[in-house]
Amino acid sequence: MPHSTDLSGYGVVPIPIVCIRNGAGPTALFMAGSHGDEYEGQVALAGLARDIDPAGVTGRIIILPALNAPAVAAGRRVSPLDAGNLNRAFPGDPVAGPTAMIAHYVATVLLAMADLAIDLHAGGRSCDYVPCALIRSGGTEAEQRELAELAVSFGAPITSISDGSGGGGRTTFSAVGQGSGVPVLTAELGGGAALSREGLSIAEQGLRRVLQRYGLLSGSTVDPASPTRFMRVRGRGAFVYAMQKGLFEPAAELRAVVQAGDLAGVIHAIDRPWQAPEPVLFTEGGMVACRRAPVLTEAGDCLYKLLVDVEPA
Ligand SMILES: [Zn+2]
Repeated sequence: MPHSTDLSGYGVVPIPIVCIRNGAGPTALFMAGSHGDEYEGQVALAGLARDIDPAGVTGRIIILPALNAPAVAAGRRVSPLDAGNLNRAFPGDPVAGPTAMIAHYVATVLLAMADLAIDLHAGGRSCDYVPCALIRSGGTEAEQRELAELAVSFGAPITSISDGSGGGGRTTFSAVGQGSGVPVLTAELGGGAALSREGLSIAEQGLRRVLQRYGLLSGSTVDPASPTRFMRVRGRGAFVYAMQKGLFEPAAELRAVVQAGDLAGVIHAIDRPWQAPEPVLFTEGGMVACRRAPVLTEAGDCLYKLLVDVEPA
């Protein structure tokens, strides 16, 4: 990516990309490091790139383990070059700055080559996540069926079906994938800027199973997929927010099933130790899929995200 600075007027930011191609077949696009502080996907994709024997490939596998390389190098969600959040920068812009340039290249060059795409995430520094896959709702019936089959072969314990209203809207990679008719599976594999062994294993096995399902890889042994549980966000009430600054003491663990009115946690005022901590309640029921990781909390920080089962049609 071109990046012109005081000390490097004709400089570029190198972004690692691995392309393994053998014969004619579909193209898979695998990415991680869209947010730099989310690690299972970065490790799984680098491992996949080293591990694949090109002789067993039929088609093309494009792997970017550190997509927003400046954010990855800084261990941050956003780029230190322009504070850009890559998964809120789609469809991008070729001249608007580093993060928008990466998004534009992915959307116009790489996605245009792809028959399927997987974008690996985690909760980063701000959240802990129950490992899950995400697919987007709102496509045609055929697109929804293909996404569901992709999720079944990826085999995360949970697949969350999302309409993008959780914050990304039309600015995410999965949104541009839907716009261009390419099935995109996203995954949240862990959080807290740590490395979840469970999430790493889900990614390692799931990527290989998907390659086999699309006829892209043979001769690699993988376990059969465990069944995935399809869930969704019911509405805005699934997101619980802090309304004051303080120390967040959570009351519910990841995977807990909660009811409307249950205590979600309390927020302790930093400067008024004599004041009773402020209770925060769940306003909807569901399963705790995501919880804020840092204790120090500001008004407006998201504390929880809940999922509910998708009712069989
Ligand atoms: Zn992310």
